[in-house]
Amino acid sequence: MHFADPDMCSQSGGHDVELFVETPDYDLICTICQGVFRCPVRAACHHIFCKKCILQWLKRCRQQTCPCCRKPVNQSLIFVMFKLSKVIGRLKIKCKNKIRGCPHTLALSEQYCHSMSCLFELIPCPYQGCRAQLLRRDLDAHARHCEHWSQPCHMGCGTVLSHRTQAKHNCYRQLRHEYEARQRNHRAIAAALQRKMRRMQSTMADMKRQIGLICESLEVMDELEEVEEEDLGETSGSFSSSNSSSTAES
Ligand SMILES: [Zn+2]
Ligand SMILES: [Zn+2]
Ligand SMILES: [Zn+2]
Ligand SMILES: [Zn+2]
Ligand SMILES: [Zn+2]
Ligand SMILES: [Zn+2]
Repeated sequence: MHFADPDMCSQSGGHDVELFVETPDYDLICTICQGVFRCPVRAACHHIFCKKCILQWLKRCRQQTCPCCRKPVNQSLIFVMFKLSKVIGRLKIKCKNKIRGCPHTLALSEQYCHSMSCLFELIPCPYQGCRAQLLRRDLDAHARHCEHWSQPCHMGCGTVLSHRTQAKHNCYRQLRHEYEARQRNHRAIAAALQRKMRRMQSTMADMKRQIGLICESLEVMDELEEVEEEDLGETSGSFSSSNSSSTAES
């Protein structure tokens, strides 16, 4: 449909007369742009123009007058001519890619739809980084050689392949490499853990030894204290007897 075409009303100026298979009727030509009406609108004086053409005309001219009859034109009294628009939409045109080889003729209203599938439409290569512009027809052939072509392996191994790596890619080998790499990694982790454990064990042995030494020295001190206490007890009990015992010891 004509009104589904996104560029129909945004573009200024009418449709190029050369585009049409048969020379369009003089009644369908906009006097401002000399093209076939695009979004035709009628002013109060009954003259018809492309919507964009008349709005631009009114913006540019100080007097708001019709370019055909010089009668005043009120911008709010301009009406879109839907029926005429549909009639124009049914006119046959040549594909705009005719110079590139497209043989199709189509209704003007189908122009946008056709450009989405026309094999002679110029399209940028879809692969990121590629600057090539190609006819849609040549896209597949280009993709087979495009340096920027890339795709994940269709076997699902997750490797993103380019044309260069695809030929050498072997899913089984790839998976085995990954498996081996993971195993190497696990072995390295296990070895590191073992080393750590051995270090901890030796530290613990050291600590045990030191605690043993501390205990021994504490026991020695206890014994010494006991001896001192015994000495003190005896001295406090009877001065003369301790005196005699100390003399006996020495
Ligand atoms: Zn126009
Ligand atoms: Zn339109
Ligand atoms: Zn007029
Ligand atoms: Zn075409
Ligand atoms: Zn490319
Ligand atoms: Zn693969």
